[in-house]
Amino acid sequence: MEVALVESPDIGTVGVGEGSTPRLKIFFDTIGVEEAEWMPRCNATYKNGISFVGWSTRPGYEHYFHPFASQVDQHTKTAFYFNTHARRHGIDVHAHPDRFFLTARLSANRQGPKPDESFPFVMDYGYHFDAGLVGEFLKEKALQRGATYIPARVVNVNLEANGDIESLVTDADEKIEADFFIDCSGFSGTLIQKFLKVPFVSYGENLFNDSAVVLPTEQEAKIGSQTVSTALSFGWAWQIPLTHRIGNGYVYSSSFCDADDAEKELRQYLGLLDSDVEARHLKMKVGRVERHWERNCLALGLSQGFIEPLEATALNIVCNTIYDFIATVDSDGIAGAGRDGFNARVNEGFEMVRDYIVAHYILNTREDSDYWRQNAANTQVPERLQQILQIWKSGQGLAPEMERLQIQSSYTAMSWACLLSGYGFFPEARDVQGGEQVAGQVDMNDIDEFIRRCALNFRSQNELLRFDA
Ligand SMILES: Cc1cc2nc3c(=O)[nH]c(=O)nc-3n(C[C@H](O)[C@H](O)[C@H](O)COP(=O)(O)OP(=O)(O)OC[C@H]3O[C@@H](n4cnc5c(N)ncnc54)[C@H](O)[C@@H]3O)c2cc1C
Repeated sequence: MEVALVESPDIGTVGVGEGSTPRLKIFFDTIGVEEAEWMPRCNATYKNGISFVGWSTRPGYEHYFHPFASQVDQHTKTAFYFNTHARRHGIDVHAHPDRFFLTARLSANRQGPKPDESFPFVMDYGYHFDAGLVGEFLKEKALQRGATYIPARVVNVNLEANGDIESLVTDADEKIEADFFIDCSGFSGTLIQKFLKVPFVSYGENLFNDSAVVLPTEQEAKIGSQTVSTALSFGWAWQIPLTHRIGNGYVYSSSFCDADDAEKELRQYLGLLDSDVEARHLKMKVGRVERHWERNCLALGLSQGFIEPLEATALNIVCNTIYDFIATVDSDGIAGAGRDGFNARVNEGFEMVRDYIVAHYILNTREDSDYWRQNAANTQVPERLQQILQIWKSGQGLAPEMERLQIQSSYTAMSWACLLSGYGFFPEARDVQGGEQVAGQVDMNDIDEFIRRCALNFRSQNELLRFDA
């Protein structure tokens, strides 16, 4: 098979997107690239998960950590479910997620997720990286492995009578023919949206954010090992630690806040009001195309859609799309026999992520702007999310009920429970009668001790990043 990468030398990449899920590790493993090779080239760091700050105002629940689930969590997860279950039934036990998860402790200590060899559990983790450098790195790898590179802007396409793409037309009026085309043209969706005219389904009714402003700050001496997502007045700000800088951005809704005010608020939050570091402003198109594989074209990345970056899921969706596409073509061929099923699965993948993201907004308890009040009052709640909230409120076991009702989600019951308990989404507490232990409850001191001992097996992010040490 011959592969050519056609890229416009003057359009440039979107330049943001610095956080990943553990899926990216699987991707690098699949293409046979070691961390020691790609991470230093891309200023990459290890990621334990994401801290959410200021989304809930309930006392004791002003922040929480969303971990990447790992084998070691099996030892504390039951206690976590037990306590959150009891707390949902109005019993005043400890139910904030952070004390139950090793990676919350590692993140607080700025330790990375890779243990010493003697640690008996497998850890799943993500990365932070410079998106532009990862793009360059992968381009170089592709060229080394036989792809060719055509620097050119696609300005038109020629279609066959049946609607397939016959060839691309460049700004130098050259024709590039191929059997199959992959549209990675970013938000413009040059092939899939502009020329093949696949409609775009907006998620605007439940996700209000459509803009971002981005500013770098200097790295701290001790490099962090988590993304921090802090709610601001009209959206939220990310902080992503790379080896050479911290990436920061404010994702907001332009219906509630203009670009100048957003930049000012981000600068204020970062202590950069008097700094002349330049900010970059971006527009985001939130939603997805109706069909990701149309005729002889597959859309990947921002051209296929984007759910705002709150849980850093875009590359996760890209990876899922790639793996599903390969499996579909392997079983049903490239002509399109498996296309409808594939498109339905990718759409469902988008919707499953969307529903988890929407939960962050509708459950917020902030009162400081119309933005937050309208998010909390939004009645456009997707059905799957309604079902999950209903299970949680009813006090039934979340994991068994999700299984019984066959609620598919790309987030596990553990992730949902972290979000819901991390927001303090519980009935009012009442004291346990006579202050007795609830039968079956694990002593929190034992959990603290287990996690303290586990954490002894992990090194600091700074140490982990010395690949030659
Ligand atoms: C604010 C924000 C934050 C994000 N955060 C995350 C995150 O934390 N984690 C995550 O996984 N993702 C995140 N993303 C998404 C992430 O940016 C993308 O998944 C990733 O960068 C891939 O982008 P892409 O290749 O689809 O598009 P782009 O980076 O825009 O690349 C498009 C490419 O197509 C080329 N091109 C465009 N039009 C033409 C044409 N007509 N002819 C020839 N070439 C053309 C361009 O030159 C460019 O090389 C974020 C996105 C935004 C907007």
